This record gives sequence, structure tokens and C-alpha cells, in this order.
Amino acid sequence: MKQPIFKRIILKLSGEALAGQQGYGIDADVISSIAEQVEEVVALNVQVAIVVGGGNIWRGISGSAKGMDRATADYMGMLATVMNSLALQSALEKIGVPTRVQTSIEMQQVAEPYIRRRAIRHLEKGRVVIFAGGTGNPYFSTDTTAALRAAEIEAEVILMAKNKVDGVYSADPFLDVHAEKFETLTYLEMLNKNLGVMDSTASSLCMDNDIPLIVFSITEKGNIKRAVIGEKIGTTVKGSVD
Ligand code: UDP
Repeated sequence: MKQPIFKRIILKLSGEALAGQQGYGIDADVISSIAEQVEEVVALNVQVAIVVGGGNIWRGISGSAKGMDRATADYMGMLATVMNSLALQSALEKIGVPTRVQTSIEMQQVAEPYIRRRAIRHLEKGRVVIFAGGTGNPYFSTDTTAALRAAEIEAEVILMAKNKVDGVYSADPFLDVHAEKFETLTYLEMLNKNLGVMDSTASSLCMDNDIPLIVFSITEKGNIKRAVIGEKIGTTVKGSVD
């Protein structure tokens, strides 16, 4: 059996990935399928930390477009990520995977506060750590959170799970029949081509800290494991091409 090529990973799940076909809210079947995929990787003794988005419930930018002040709308978005994190924790624990949720905004009745060294300790003990609440700051995204936490806990890779596409394309594959999927890409290319995979703050943070990213489809079961054992799936983004 193939061995994992990473010891510690960050899995970035967008809110949309939890919503499944309905496009909003949390789909129970989808979340349990994701939990099973995470379990497979934990069984390989890979340390897994997860950053969850909130776009299936609320996006700050849409709130501010409706006249709400941006910071308030963003705090609502951060709270949405906490709801998703709790749902994911519940799905993981239901199948026997020990987890801890850590929030960047303190709410101790609900979850632990984010403490870097404690998060690392949990990971070393085989617990899945779910980072909720984004960075805790408005004007940022959960992609940036994934980059930041990856740097902080020294994760070797960010696995970015998508539910509509299976990698990074030269154009929107749903709108352009000539759109081509990239196998590999550099952060600089991604930024210059404005490919919309992640925001520029997140890309720059990954680039500056040399954190590779694998963009792949979560809808195909077993893909997290495939990425972890080094199978070529989706698109790999790095600081420079090997
Ligand atoms: N958010 C924020 N700061 C952060 C992370 C998230 O203000 O550090 C807010 C922001 O309003 C964002 C929402 O939380 O729209 C949900 O996060 P995101 O859009 O990254 O979720 P995803 O697209 O991954 O579902």
C-alpha cells in the first residue's frame, strides 16, 4: 500500500463544499461523505487540520453590498464558519474521529480558543483540528486563514477542496469550452492570470512562505487520500516549477 507523502496537512473546505447540490446551508450526506474521506487520511497517521469557509451561509461582501457595513458583515461571515465547523466536528465524531474546534474569536462555551501550540499538540495526538472563525479579522478570507494557519503549524501542503471544478482552469470551464486545466502552476502565474482560485492575499502568503497547494474535487470520493499519497490529481500550485 502506498504511504502518505505528507505528515501534516491543511484541508480547506469552502462553505459551498458543505452545501452540495442545494448550493446553500449544510447537506448532511455531503458532510458525512467528507468526514469519511478525512477518516481515511487520519487512518494513515496523517495529521489533519481543517479550515472551513462560510460562503454557504453568509459572505461579508454580499452583506456589505446590501448596505451593511463591511466589518459587521464580515464578522457574520466568521460566525458562519463556526456553524460549519461544528457541523463537521459532529460528523467526524459520529464516525469515531477525535476532533477539536478552535475559534479565532473566543467563544469558550462552544469551542476552544485558537492556541497555536495547543493545536499542534492535538494534531500530534491524532486529533483533527478544525480552525473556525477565519483569521478573526474582517476583510480577510478563509483561504487566507488556511495559508496563515498552514504557515503557523508548519503544514506541508494545503489541500483545497472544490465541489464544482477538479482543478485550476485557464478560464471558467462552465462558460468557456476552450478552458484548459493546469497540472501545475506557480503562485506568480496564478496571480498574474487572475485565475480566481484564491484571493491575492492568500496566494501571496502561500508564495512568500513556500506552501504548496493542491486544488482538487471533493465530489470524487477518496480524493483527499489520493492527494495525500502523492497521486497526481487536480492542479498543484507552487512557488516555482520543479
Ligand atoms: N471572513 C472574514 N475574515 C476571515 C475569514 C472569513 O471576515 O478571516 C468572513 C468574510 O465575510 C467571508 C465569510 O467570512 O465572506 C466566509 O468566508 P469565506 O468567504 O472565505 O468562505 P468560503 O468562500 O470558503 O465558503
